[in-house]
Amino acid sequence: MRKKIAIIGGGIIGCLSAIKLRESGFSVVIVEKNKIGEESSWAGAGILFPLMPWAYSSEVYNLCQNSSEFYEEFSKKLIRVTGVNPEFSKTGMKLIKPRTLEEIQQWSRKNSYEIKNSTFNKSPAILFPSVAQIRPPRLMKAIKLYINKLGINVVENTELCKLNNDEKILNKWGTKQGDPIEADYFIVTSGAWVSMIRPEYKNIIYPIRGQMIQYKASSLKINHILYFDGFYVLQRKDGVIIAGSTVEEVGFDKEIKAESLNYLKKKAEQVIPALKNIVVENHWVGFRPGTKDNIPVICKDKKYENIYINAGHFRYGITMAPKSAEIINSLLVESKL
Ligand SMILES: Cc1cc2nc3c(=O)[nH]c(=O)nc-3n(C[C@H](O)[C@H](O)[C@H](O)COP(=O)(O)OP(=O)(O)OC[C@H]3O[C@@H](n4cnc5c(N)ncnc54)[C@H](O)[C@@H]3O)c2cc1C
Repeated sequence: MRKKIAIIGGGIIGCLSAIKLRESGFSVVIVEKNKIGEESSWAGAGILFPLMPWAYSSEVYNLCQNSSEFYEEFSKKLIRVTGVNPEFSKTGMKLIKPRTLEEIQQWSRKNSYEIKNSTFNKSPAILFPSVAQIRPPRLMKAIKLYINKLGINVVENTELCKLNNDEKILNKWGTKQGDPIEADYFIVTSGAWVSMIRPEYKNIIYPIRGQMIQYKASSLKINHILYFDGFYVLQRKDGVIIAGSTVEEVGFDKEIKAESLNYLKKKAEQVIPALKNIVVENHWVGFRPGTKDNIPVICKDKKYENIYINAGHFRYGITMAPKSAEIINSLLVESKL
């Protein structure tokens, strides 16, 4: 009989893990406390590149590699099967006024990653021609429909409780709504909320708030993702412009303040002064699953034999999701329980 896997949390990490495990022949259920894809994975910019890979350990770039190729193909499949276009687009990224030119050139040579000298409004810039973007709310909408077609069971509005079980192997995990979830294996993909159900991960995975704004579509055209002084501005296919983001360690505070809006506008308008004349139509918050050095936890749980963790992808979870799903799938396929 097929082994049953319960995936706890329906963000991009839970969903791509579910798809991979279903393809390997497991019976899969995703249990989500709200609705699929409405937290961090909805809020992201969808840049499929770790913005400054030269500044991280090579593990970060390794987890991000081939992500763009994956999403290019996956998007075609999602459009075909669901009719929803996640707007994958290889727009390239321009890093304006790079501060560590030599380090970037060295990284590019070492990784055979193409970069080109360029300019932006007369300032020096580096163009990364193969950097792509995707539109997270549409990606998650398409994935939700796709998962349905694959026969992956989805249980929404159901929140797993904190574990206080002394046995090493868990057969049932209690929920706040009453009925427990039964499975042979559990995979915790609950993003910034991991430590609420597995407190051992409290100082390992924690929320890092990110805020972004969206400008109305106008006649302004931005060809590339623009990255300047730790801040990015990019345009979607329908013309809206996204700018962000903040990186704040403030717990799960969802409040949006006027001063944050002013900060985000000021940073965006530093890159493109013409934005001053365009209306900001949206401003939102997301909770990244923060980790030290941006390296996620993808392994067996510290305590339970049949629980695995796939979380803590911090700033690059959309980008890292395909590789993380492959890793968790290999661990489960090799598991001898
Ligand atoms: C402003 C911003 C910009 C970003 N930009 C990018 C970018 O350009 N590129 C990129 O690659 N990444 C980006 N990211 C990061 C990326 O969005 C995250 O790393 C990624 O979404 C994490 O995915 P996840 O599935 O782990 O978490 P989430 O999407 O948060 O999913 C976790 C899910 O678990 C559920 N859950 C929690 N607790 C429980 C429970 N007890 N029981 C059941 N369900 C539970 C939650 O409701 C949630 O739906 C950005 C993030 C933000 C906030």
